[in-house]
Amino acid sequence: MTKVRTRFAPSPTGYMHVGNLRTALYTYLIAKHAGGDFILRIEDTDQGRFVEGALDIIYNTLKTTGLKHDEGPDVGGPVGPYIQSQRTDIYLKYAKKLIDMGKAYYCFCTKERLDTLRASSEASGDYKYDKHCLHLSEGEIKDKLASGIPYVIRQNNPETGVTTFHDEIYGDICVDNSELDDMILIKSDGYPTYNFANVIDDHLMGITHVVRGSEYLSSAPKYNRLYEAFGWQIPTYIHCPPIMKDPHHKLSKRNGDASFQDLIEKGYLKEAVLNYIALLGWNPGGEKEIFNLQELVEKFDYRNINKSPAIFDTVKLKWMNGQYIKNMPLEDFNFLALPYYKKVISKKLDFLKISKLLKTRVEVLSEIPDFLDFFQKLPDYSADMYIHKRMKTNLQNSLITLEKFLPRLESLDPWTFENIEKCCMDLVSDMQVKNGVVLWPVRTALSGKKSTPGGAFEIADIIGKEESIKRIKTGIEKLKKANQ
Ligand code: GLU
Repeated sequence: MTKVRTRFAPSPTGYMHVGNLRTALYTYLIAKHAGGDFILRIEDTDQGRFVEGALDIIYNTLKTTGLKHDEGPDVGGPVGPYIQSQRTDIYLKYAKKLIDMGKAYYCFCTKERLDTLRASSEASGDYKYDKHCLHLSEGEIKDKLASGIPYVIRQNNPETGVTTFHDEIYGDICVDNSELDDMILIKSDGYPTYNFANVIDDHLMGITHVVRGSEYLSSAPKYNRLYEAFGWQIPTYIHCPPIMKDPHHKLSKRNGDASFQDLIEKGYLKEAVLNYIALLGWNPGGEKEIFNLQELVEKFDYRNINKSPAIFDTVKLKWMNGQYIKNMPLEDFNFLALPYYKKVISKKLDFLKISKLLKTRVEVLSEIPDFLDFFQKLPDYSADMYIHKRMKTNLQNSLITLEKFLPRLESLDPWTFENIEKCCMDLVSDMQVKNGVVLWPVRTALSGKKSTPGGAFEIADIIGKEESIKRIKTGIEKLKKANQ
């Protein structure tokens, strides 16, 4: 059996769209599931789109996500070069072969002529080149080439009959040849079009499975005509459904969360993003949704990719990210959370203790600062926060609690979680009240917030004795004023 070889073929746009990353992932999974090779090829023949630093983004994303390529521009391999702009001679050679076979032809049409042609077909909506240059004589072609008139090379498609191709996801697709445009293979700048280069490279690089977005589906019949003209074996096509922001809009760069970098900057974990993206249009069957890369490799079967568009559901991604955070070792979470702590806390606190409180609550790292601001500084809060029906607290009994609690806290030594807890619980039993009557006012005074990660003991333990006493005193003052 031939070894499975797949390729990820991004254009260096400076941006790793979620859809591109999904293509990379599926491409990788198909190869690795079958014990095959995963190849990286850079498709940079559209020189107008070239962006500085774009290659680094591609390399970095693959590296960070663990999608390690076996061959590529940076690691080499037997069928290089792996950057299309370094392969222009190859494309020209094959284009000329097609010309010799009558399957392609030189076209010298000017932009003006093509514009007129396009304008006149505007009403019908389906522009097609009119094969004008197909009918030039050999002599005319020779003369034009000799006098340096710019040209492109076009595919020569038949005008009758039908071209059929098979896609693993979308099934058999038939197209009337009358609909096939004589697409450009080589542009006037000497570079090939994507449409031509992808076929030549996929063949020469021994690609067995071509994975890409469904936007290329409609061009596939023209690619098949090229494979057939050369007598090459057509690869297995796997076109993936589009990724939508909602049922009517594609997930686009403009949304600000369409790229891998955007998501990482927003505080998502790379493992969670990869896991989530794997499920965008692929269904593993069963209940399990959390898969690491190795599990995906084992499980992935491209036959289970869906045809219908996938909706990028941020709520689901958040949930999944939260699961990854919950399941990671405390030290790892602490390491990732530290830069976010530093945004709002300049005090020297035991961050590991804070991490312990946050780990089960945070879904996305960027939420962290909002959880924590009160550790740095007691917010200005209203005395009404002491009133809690279920806790049976009001302005009066809260004041009593805090006043009784203060001296006990002041004499507490050593300042440990256990002692703080005991101090609170002793007060509960001495006052013969329910826990809430003590714990609600104490936590409110310590945090100035209705909800906090961790309760009164944890907060007091983290902010320390001096700060806790100061905050309880502030609470007493606030309540005294409110009770007047
Ligand atoms: N260079 C194309 C893109 O970035 C890749 C299409 C393909 O994988 O064949 O969209």
